[in-house]
Amino acid sequence: MSTGQIVIGGFGAAGTSTALALVSGGVAPAAIAIFDSAPMVPELAAKADARILALNAGSRRFLDALGAWERLAAHAYPMRSMSISDTALDEAFRPLLLGMAAEDESEPLAHLVPLGEMNAVLRDLCCEAGISIVRARLTGFKAGAEGIEIDLDGEKRIASLLIGADGAKSPIRLKAGISTHGWAYGQTAIVATIRHSLAHHGEAVQHFLPSGPFALLPLDEFRSSIVWSEKAAIAAEILAADPATQRRAIAARAAGWRGEITAIEAISSHPLQLRLARRFVGDRLALVADAAHVVHPLAGQGLNLGFEDAAMLAELVVERLRLGLDPGAADLLELYQARRRPAAAVMALATEGINRLFSNDSSPLRLLRDLGAGIINRMPSAKQRLIEAAAGQTRLSPRLFRGEAI
Ligand SMILES: Cc1cc2nc3c(=O)[nH]c(=O)nc-3n(C[C@H](O)[C@H](O)[C@H](O)COP(=O)(O)OP(=O)(O)OC[C@H]3O[C@@H](n4cnc5c(N)ncnc54)[C@H](O)[C@@H]3O)c2cc1C
Repeated sequence: MSTGQIVIGGFGAAGTSTALALVSGGVAPAAIAIFDSAPMVPELAAKADARILALNAGSRRFLDALGAWERLAAHAYPMRSMSISDTALDEAFRPLLLGMAAEDESEPLAHLVPLGEMNAVLRDLCCEAGISIVRARLTGFKAGAEGIEIDLDGEKRIASLLIGADGAKSPIRLKAGISTHGWAYGQTAIVATIRHSLAHHGEAVQHFLPSGPFALLPLDEFRSSIVWSEKAAIAAEILAADPATQRRAIAARAAGWRGEITAIEAISSHPLQLRLARRFVGDRLALVADAAHVVHPLAGQGLNLGFEDAAMLAELVVERLRLGLDPGAADLLELYQARRRPAAAVMALATEGINRLFSNDSSPLRLLRDLGAGIINRMPSAKQRLIEAAAGQTRLSPRLFRGEAI
């Protein structure tokens, strides 16, 4: 490997999509290497993780440009509308607090895509493109004026830029000495795929319950994915219970919105945290996706933000390389940070605020939430702006998010 190359740590959705975005902009696959410390068996990962992610229109365009969407479309389910309620667990009736629907039949609010399938497709595309994939652990790195020396299991490599796409615990971020803002929520997300007796007609439901939000996300007509954020101690009891008890617990949260819960097909759990890197860049180093930010899943925005990082970084790097300039230059990295960190900070704050405002049983706060949601519900323009922001469609979105090539 020689100077000029780009090394990416992490063979997850962020690492693979960054690599493919670079290739879509004309970077030679031979100039990119990805390393990952985990065994690269996507089926194993898919079985252990029931996550089905809501991806917005910008992410769909991005995946389309990478050649991934045509392979994923058969596994993607449209979310056409969303209903939000705010009640205590024992209330039998969950009145609607806020409702949103896609205005355009051809562009749903989001698509639900299994994380395991998506990672497998993105990994296959990287291998088919001829990008070098290495199973190795990072030992250390040292940046200099000419390049960054990266030590992988004792083998030294020189690159122009190191991209940290190595997840929430990012060893690259830690070794770069970049600290984070954030804390654990004391909540665990229970993620499950369930079968039910009533059809959902593409509607997602979010019940804000005092111990955390509970979402029903539409898959095929009688199947949904749930994302249930619960106090960690209660979640541990639910996860240790037998399937019949788990079904009853899910039914109590769903409060009849999907009829009877007839089966649980897959279940996994994820401790929740807020984390925002103080810097998204270092010397010849850029962080993307969970390595840079981890937000509460209540808005389904974590990887949407991560894909936007990948698309923006690739756009900036490709522009530099076309001019024959250094893709690891400090001014490029500062520009990347300036474009992406504020967006992640806003989402971290918004999800933090919503979780705090809703995950409690306080009557004055409930009144405040009902008033706020009532106002938004009666303001079509405010609702439309919320939908556009959640869809990743702002004038600052990277080109691959707007359906333009880089
Ligand atoms: C319950 C839940 C629901 C969610 N729902 C949504 C949603 O609806 N929509 C949405 O957009 N987002 C959602 N998210 C967020 C989304 O799942 C994450 O943002 C995304 O999966 C992160 O991808 P990543 O590639 O950054 O990290 P990862 O998938 O964690 O990949 C990191 C990779 O780095 C590798 N690695 C780790 N350490 C090393 C090392 N030392 N050396 C080399 N490699 C290493 C790992 O093996 C792994 O392959 C949700 C998250 C949770 C918890």
